[in-house]
Amino acid sequence: MTRPPKFIPIRRGDKPIGSVTTYLRKYQRGIKEGNVDVPCGRCNACCRAPSIFVDLYDDELKDFPEAVPAPKHSKHQMMLPKKQDGSCVHLIDGKCSIYARRPRGCRTYDCRLRLLLGLGPGGGDAGPDSIMKQALEQWKGFEHKTKEDRVLDVAIRLSIVDGGFPETEQQMILKVANTHRYFAKAERILDHFDNFSPEQKQQIIAELDTKMEQQLYQGERDK
Ligand code: SF4
Ligand code: SF4
Repeated sequence: MTRPPKFIPIRRGDKPIGSVTTYLRKYQRGIKEGNVDVPCGRCNACCRAPSIFVDLYDDELKDFPEAVPAPKHSKHQMMLPKKQDGSCVHLIDGKCSIYARRPRGCRTYDCRLRLLLGLGPGGGDAGPDSIMKQALEQWKGFEHKTKEDRVLDVAIRLSIVDGGFPETEQQMILKVANTHRYFAKAERILDHFDNFSPEQKQQIIAELDTKMEQQLYQGERDK
């Protein structure tokens, strides 16, 4: 599933995600195993959202003869078709009619990754997506209780300030996989943090966030 990001502020809901490092560890294990476990509950937003496209890997094409060409910025050539309302063609009565054999893109999709990377609900050709916005707003956000959590949080910001926002699902996965490169710098910043007042700490994080937003707007202007 791939779409370029859009910066749209997301409110925080009450569904807990827990510690950011635990989340990321589980997510990366899921990606390796080809199945990310997301506590979706009754949500089926990503199956309904016009901005979410299910790309198909070449080795999956034989199992999905209904595949249609994917949009030009997609990493893959083909994707699952959509109905006129933008929902997946396999979503019947609110449920996935091919759940047991759904493609890899569906098995590994996790909307929380967007929150981790500070991204909005997606848009691209389909425009900002209110269905995905609602889905993202159900989550409470990540907890940053330990030093490891805080290092990861700062490292993600640093990697985005440095390399820009990822645009596709694949780039998002790579971005979080490479975050470890920024751990040492993030740790140094955090060690310095102890000498700062809470206001100064907030200001430093706010400055990093402003730089991240500038990156995103820059990315959208360049398209
Ligand atoms: S939008 Fe998120 S919570 Fe909703 S079904 Fe998709 S992955 Fe699950
Ligand atoms: S194949 Fe199933 S899980 Fe995947 S988007 Fe379509 S309805 Fe949702």
